[in-house]
Amino acid sequence: MTARDCTRCAELAATRTSVVFGAGNANADLMFVGEAPGANEDLQGLPFVGAAGKLLETLLGEIGLSRSEVFIANVLKCRPPGNRDPRPGEIENCTPYLISQVELVAPRVICTLGNFATKLLRGDPAGITRVHGQPEVRTIGSHTTRLFPIYHPAAALYTPRTMETLREDFLALPGLLGLAAPASPRPPQAAPQEQPDALAPVAQAEPAAEQLGLF
Ligand code: URA
Repeated sequence: MTARDCTRCAELAATRTSVVFGAGNANADLMFVGEAPGANEDLQGLPFVGAAGKLLETLLGEIGLSRSEVFIANVLKCRPPGNRDPRPGEIENCTPYLISQVELVAPRVICTLGNFATKLLRGDPAGITRVHGQPEVRTIGSHTTRLFPIYHPAAALYTPRTMETLREDFLALPGLLGLAAPASPRPPQAAPQEQPDALAPVAQAEPAAEQLGLF
């Protein structure tokens, strides 16, 4: 499976300039997952290089982190034409790349930026307005981590109230990064299982819901 010459989504493969795989520290404790590359990202082959990326860097700086210390990826690795929303089939095609990235980087905390990443990695349709700022222990692929949904920086650029909330949520990150790594759930029983559906391995809630007592 190589992302660089992926043709799983015919339209995206035909219209993209580059596959924006992700960038940053491959051993990062903190990983961000956005939605999909925009025009600037498509041209440069790097995630979050436009205005939303500048804001992300500013917010990181405010908690004493730099872009080079974290890993940044997206739900989709290719730009949807005209920046339209990712389609369900595209998300399904691209999810194996994201799961591999999570397993390889093995971050302690994954910040999902906005609705698409949050719904995918939580495996739940609850929107970002409802779940932002609430950390949860989840298992993504084979890696157990803390998911921390926050607003997408692009949504905060033109809405001062969203910016305020995003900034407040960001301030919780150092505390989350300081917590012990969450324990992996017990390995599954060896009994034969029904065939899981396509998105089932993406997110599993920790069975004994951990009380972080942070919020
Ligand atoms: N918005 C995203 O979700 N991802 C990017 O890489 C850039 C903007």
